[in-house]
Amino acid sequence: MSVVFLTIDTLRDFLGNTNGSRGLVPTMGALHAGHLSLIERAKLENDCVVVSIFVNPLQFGQGEDYLQYPRDMESDRLACEQAGVDVIFAPTPEEIYGAGQLTKIIPPEAMTAGLCGRSRVGHFTGVATVVAKLFNIVKPHRAYFGQKDGQQLAIIRQLVKDLNFAIEIRDCPTLRMTSGLALSSRNQYLDSEQLSIAVSFYESLKLAESAFLAGEIDSKVLIYVVKSYLSPQVVLEYLELVNAETLEPVEKVQTKSMLAIAGRVGNTRLIDNIILNID
Ligand code: AMP
Repeated sequence: MSVVFLTIDTLRDFLGNTNGSRGLVPTMGALHAGHLSLIERAKLENDCVVVSIFVNPLQFGQGEDYLQYPRDMESDRLACEQAGVDVIFAPTPEEIYGAGQLTKIIPPEAMTAGLCGRSRVGHFTGVATVVAKLFNIVKPHRAYFGQKDGQQLAIIRQLVKDLNFAIEIRDCPTLRMTSGLALSSRNQYLDSEQLSIAVSFYESLKLAESAFLAGEIDSKVLIYVVKSYLSPQVVLEYLELVNAETLEPVEKVQTKSMLAIAGRVGNTRLIDNIILNID
């Protein structure tokens, strides 16, 4: 049975009476199999699993989909229940930010200047701020994040290091549909034609991966491979090869590099990435 808490105080009272290790899976809800894979891993590694469900207004910019973002608490609660989640934390924005928040956590400029940070100004400040707050509220031993949001993951790792959170960050592989499309709550916005266009994100990244495995390490060539296969109906926002940890652009694949893409299919903005590892 998953216990639901809407307030910080009641959650803290409850957690104060639990023993053993605690795993946190931060989400914005509209749970799908990708989220559930994080939960499954957290279950394996912790005595108590906390899932937070919070559509964080601070990480949405003007004109973004904060109001339209899918919300379905009852179906999320059932999914958590079936996955064996112990605790759901589902606060309101008022509960998290009060009347007039706030101290904000601003991630390093070098990590937010590129990729999603270029068009989503302030997004990662919103992410870092809410994640730091969730870490302080839940006090987990481990926290689980998806590789699908590769820039977010790198920024959270940096935050944990810089602010000395005693939390192990676990990165979890991207779960995909059989077509290869990365599962995302925003896939709900796509109709069937758009879904087939969106599949070209991963197909083109896989082609670049094949080229890399055949010996190609030049970013320009790998990017060319993706561009030449990507559906022309995708409005490309960025396509970059970066160091997966520092997020600095690289000209050649290094030890752990991330080939990351963002683009629009219709009005829906989608992201994906693959890790290319020289080892
Ligand atoms: P969100 O609800 O979109 O904020 O995502 C919550 C967490 O789930 C983040 O750490 C995401 O990276 C992760 N996540 C989202 N989609 C997937 C996926 N397809 N596979 C694995 N993890 C995912």
